[in-house]
Amino acid sequence: MDKFDVDLFVIGGGSGGVRAARIAASHGARVRIAEEYRLGGTCVIRGCVPKKLFVYASRFAHEFTAAAGFGWTVEGTSFDWPTLIANKDREIERLEGAYRGNLERSGVEIVPQRAVITGPNEVELADGSRVTARYILVATGGRPNLGLDIPGRELGITSNEMFHLPRLPASIVIQGAGYIALEFASLLAGLGSKVTVVHRGDKLLRGFDEEIRERLSKELEAAGIALEFGVTIDSIDATDQGRRVRLNDGRVLLADEVMLAIGRVPNTVGVGLEAAGVQLNPNGAIVVDENSRTNIPSIYAVGDVTDRVNLTPIAIREGHAFADTVFGGKPWVVDHSLVPTAVFTEPEIGVVGLTEEEARAQGRRLDIYKTDFRPMKATLSGSPSRVFMKIIVDQKDDKVIGVHLIGEASAEIIQIVGITMTVGATKADFDRTLALHPSAAEELVTLRTKHDSSDLPEQSAESTPAI
Ligand code: FAD
Ligand code: NDP
Repeated sequence: MDKFDVDLFVIGGGSGGVRAARIAASHGARVRIAEEYRLGGTCVIRGCVPKKLFVYASRFAHEFTAAAGFGWTVEGTSFDWPTLIANKDREIERLEGAYRGNLERSGVEIVPQRAVITGPNEVELADGSRVTARYILVATGGRPNLGLDIPGRELGITSNEMFHLPRLPASIVIQGAGYIALEFASLLAGLGSKVTVVHRGDKLLRGFDEEIRERLSKELEAAGIALEFGVTIDSIDATDQGRRVRLNDGRVLLADEVMLAIGRVPNTVGVGLEAAGVQLNPNGAIVVDENSRTNIPSIYAVGDVTDRVNLTPIAIREGHAFADTVFGGKPWVVDHSLVPTAVFTEPEIGVVGLTEEEARAQGRRLDIYKTDFRPMKATLSGSPSRVFMKIIVDQKDDKVIGVHLIGEASAEIIQIVGITMTVGATKADFDRTLALHPSAAEELVTLRTKHDSSDLPEQSAESTPAI
């Protein structure tokens, strides 16, 4: 008789926890998973999935406008927010059911309760019962940062509430200039809201390539989004006309809603980590080694709660590696160095690898290739939106070490570029790849001119590739 109730107890039924539980069970482990809210976690319930559905909804507005140049008369369009919310809710419910079904078919026991660690091999459930486990996996994710100490903070909403607003806000002030602030700014503007972004810094999207940051600013402003740099919100009041926002430069803005999108914090408070002696870093994230193991040998952690790279595919892969390593006798580690990522603004951004600034800071000698063009569709639609692409190559071995895109379909393109970089493609490999015409992506294999500085002749191409 085993001295533990289960081999693995997973806390958190999100991207990382569910993958780890399923794979561990497939290796023969006896697994239980506790979820206090809804199976699927942030990504499925109130993150990537509903957000992308909102993005799709918002893009119809651009398509209706573009259609006229192609001969269409689009009349009588209107948008109904409650229909979008209801259809989105139905899809999320379907996905939640699919997650539950997959776990059950894998033989994982689901515990729909909060779980708290009480020792290196024990958890306590909300109903007071205790379970002993050979291993505990903490996959509790993160939550919106509410740490803004300003009067009226409770009147501001976060991404969590955005998915359930009873009506589309006619106007909104969004604080922050990261992924969440800008994706919601774009999609709400597309749906017809008047959007103001308030940011403490002087540029959007810290950590992205400088030219992408600048171009996104121009595109958002051209789409009618007001960008207020170098300011923060000092207070929020409720008035008859909605929220009154006072900025730290004395200005006052009025809006239906105020959204705070100033980052996310790891869910490590009240999880019992102190009881077990698990080490946290100053941000409150769990410290783990490359195998996702904490300082306590029986306790592991994956996903956003470790604050490594806070994206769903990373949480999933960390969960998978953990299960294969601990239960499958197939040890492997996740490579966090080459992560394709997209920001679903309008236009969207797709990046993989190093920024030019990071590559230069590493002392590498670089060849930079870039292009800035009006996409073919815009010639008839009249859209002022442009496409910008940048390839960063290490002179030492001709390896492509960074690709940065802004423009339609950048997310789809960058996923495939990620494959080429994962197998170590050189610029010569890009060059010998045949172009697919007509497409925006073909520019990536036809770019021949090096740029030493960040200057690019205006309109270097117009989707009329080398003939
Ligand atoms: P989570 O998915 O957060 O799951 C943690 C789970 O643990 C939750 O379900 C929670 O209820 C549960 N839990 C917490 N504490 C306990 C406890 N004590 N007991 C029981 N259960 C507990 N990533 C992308 O890759 N692409 C995107 O487009 C994208 N868009 C996003 C949009 C938004 C608005 C947000 C907020 C995030 C987005 N992300 C996106 C990030 C992505 O959602 C996260 O990286 C991912 O969900 C992390 O997975 P996880 O398993 O670490 O945690
Ligand atoms: P980010 O870390 O991306 O951005 C936070 C923003 O808030 C930054 O602009 C930051 O400014 C600002 N900020 C932070 N603290 C304060 C403060 N005290 N006062 C004023 N401004 C502040 O966080 P998000 O919440 O946007 O997203 C969290 C994570 O979720 C992302 O980093 C990403 O990993 C993931 N995500 C991924 C998506 C995708 O893949 N498409 C979509 C959504 C989320 P500064 O730049 O000055 O630090």
